[in-house]
Order: sequence, then C-alpha cells, then structure tokens
Amino acid sequence: MNSGKLIIFSAPSGAGKTTIVRHLLNVIPALEFSISACSREMRKGERNGVDYYFLSAGEFRKKIENNEFIEWEEVYKDHYYGTLRSEVFRIWNNGHHVIFDVDVEGGLNLKSQYADRALAVFVMPPSIQSLESRLKQRETETTESIARRIGKAEKELKTADRFDKTILNDTLAHALADAEKVVKEFLQR
Ligand code: ADP
Ligand code: 5GP
Repeated sequence: MNSGKLIIFSAPSGAGKTTIVRHLLNVIPALEFSISACSREMRKGERNGVDYYFLSAGEFRKKIENNEFIEWEEVYKDHYYGTLRSEVFRIWNNGHHVIFDVDVEGGLNLKSQYADRALAVFVMPPSIQSLESRLKQRETETTESIARRIGKAEKELKTADRFDKTILNDTLAHALADAEKVVKEFLQR
C-alpha cells in the first residue's frame, strides 16, 4: 500500500519491547511484524522465518554486499541484525503497516530514513537493575551476555530524547495501554 507506515519500538535489551510489540500485534490487525534477519544462534522456541530469518554470518555479509538491507548492525561481535528491504515491501504489499522491534541504533536509523512516515517509540525500563532482573528471569541469556547487554544499555538510555515518544514500562498493563494509545493515534493521522 502507498500509505504504509512504520512503527518502531526500540529499547535496551530486557526493557520489554518484544512483550509490547506482541500485544500490539494482537490488538491492532493493521500491523504486521517486520521479521529481521540475524546471525545469532536460534533460542529454544524460536522459529526461522517467524522470529527472525536466521542466517550464517557469511550469508549475512553477502546480503550486505548486495545492498539488500535498509539498515543493519553488528549488535554484538559476529551477531549481525538487520532489516531486509524485501521485508518492508512484503508487508506494505499485504496492505499492512510495519512494526519493528529493533535496537536503539537501528530504530534511529529507520526514523531518519522515513521521517514522518515513521513513529519511533523508546521503551524505558524503570531502572538498569530491573533490566538485569528481567533478563535473568527471561532465562535466555548467559551471565556473560547479560553483562554485555547491560553494558550497552547505559549508553542506549541516553538516546531516549531522540525518539518521538517514550513509554515507561514499569507496570506492564500501563505500558501496554500507553503503547496502544500512541500507535492508534499515529495510524489515524
Ligand atoms: P526486550 O524485547 O526489550 O528484550 P522482553 O519483552 O523480552 O524485552 O522482556 C524481557 C523480560 O521481562 C521478559 O521475560 C518479559 O516477560 C519481562 N517483562 C516485560 N515487561 C515487564 C514488566 N513491566 N514488569 C516485569 N517484567 C516484565
Ligand atoms: P535479541 O538477540 O535479544 O533477539 O536481539 C538483540 C538486539 O538486536 C535487540 O536489541 C534487538 O532489538 C536488536 N535487533 C533485532 N532486529 C534488529 C534489526 O533488524 N536491526 C537492528 N539494528 N537491530 C535489531
């Protein structure tokens, strides 16, 4: 669709963006999730082509050379993540708006390319300590990868004022309601 929009949710890892994006996909049928490509290991319960398009680092680098990404990043060493151009067109061609769950740099990059066609939302955790306890509780990370994510979070929190909106994810129910409100308002514009 020509009028297809982009909704971007970014935050430090563990802030709750995946939880919020899943909720929005359940309650706003006009949205479709942008499946990113990545080169990290698949986690238990994840599916290729559903959670991510899982590629080897070599396959990923080949697609970078072929200019197949709108944006990409080496988020952690040898762990590439990116948005394929074909993915956004696939969703717009389905008549849907695209919703992204990307890290802060990817989110700001997408916003700078799409300007008013995009709504960029920062999900703010109540504290760094809460990020750590949420990542532990999610049981997907090693002690080392939690430390790496927390190290990155301190810098990421400083970028919040560059987003169109910030949503505090303290009480989840409030965050879900706030997210629903800002996205619906943007889509009605
Ligand atoms: P992200 O996608 O930003 O890395 P997730 O959505 O995976 O974060 O959330 C990280 C963990 O924290 C998950 O286990 C999730 O269930 C939990 N969580 C999300 N929001 C809250 C909240 N408001 N209070 C407590 N736990 C939360
Ligand atoms: P995870 O390994 O927890 O799934 O994701 C690690 C980080 O990569 C998260 O902050 C996630 O939002 C980010 N990420 C996921 N997809 C993309 C993408 O397409 N582009 C960018 N730049 N980051 C992404």
